Amino acid sequence: MNAIPATETIQTAAPTHIAISGVSKTFETRTGTVHALQNINLNIRKGEFVSVLGPSGCGKSTLMMLLAGLTSVKLGRIMVGDKHIDGPNADAGIVFQQDVLLEWRTAIDNILLQAEIRKADMTQARERARQLLKMVSLQDFETAYPKELSGGMRQRISICRALLHKPPLLLMDEPFGALDAMTRDQLQIDLLRLCADNEMTVFFITHSIQEAIFLSDRVVVMSPRPGRIERIIDIDLPRPRRLAMRETAKFTAYTRDLTAIFKSLGVFREEY
Ligand code: ADP
Ligand code: MG
Repeated sequence: MNAIPATETIQTAAPTHIAISGVSKTFETRTGTVHALQNINLNIRKGEFVSVLGPSGCGKSTLMMLLAGLTSVKLGRIMVGDKHIDGPNADAGIVFQQDVLLEWRTAIDNILLQAEIRKADMTQARERARQLLKMVSLQDFETAYPKELSGGMRQRISICRALLHKPPLLLMDEPFGALDAMTRDQLQIDLLRLCADNEMTVFFITHSIQEAIFLSDRVVVMSPRPGRIERIIDIDLPRPRRLAMRETAKFTAYTRDLTAIFKSLGVFREEY
């Protein structure tokens, strides 16, 4: 009998966490109808890290806003757990490209905002905030104000804020898009560490091919507008992920395949 590695057994057995069925989205604008998403079907398992990769304007943010329940689903259906999403999904943690920290609150008070809004136990919340700060190596910056922090530090704070209430689902919209390359590498590692320590499903939007491969269990490739799912690629790289994996033959093969898909979609044009 073939032995199946335990991790694989768990992953295939994990129940569906997100079910997106037949979702399309159009926007009526002054200049006409914009078809942002067309017939999106996607199931994500509990605990899975899924990246959505696609060119600017293909509907990635729209899809995340639908999952967050911040935009209404008119055509199709989205289930998160056993909840039909038809209004704001308060269980999800959300991180955007901009950190949206409050400048007049310290780092820890920005994180605790989440607990205040949810009327959670503040003693427990403070303890959890400190643990999270430690996990992203910011334990010495608890009382710093946002203006005293670098872009990468600020974004770490906003990730801690999103995770304070232990959300089962983390939605991230190009969270590292505004950071320099080295900071971005570190934040990817920090995020993976947080994922290893907090059981959650991650829906991660990026337009970086390497970032998607490095972080994910699966990469969803979207076509230019109207956004459709073009391909779904399983990333069969071991965890914990290490930066050196980016130089392996397997990683570069994924990069090559994904680049070829975008080339075939007309996203990359190399003639000049
Ligand atoms: P991405 O995040 O992949 O760059 P978006 O989801 O932001 O793409 O946008 C997809 C398309 O939908 C774009 O053409 C954008 O202009 C349009 N769009 C997004 N939100 C709105 C809105 N609220 N009103 C009108 N058009 C929108
Ligand atoms: Mg976007």
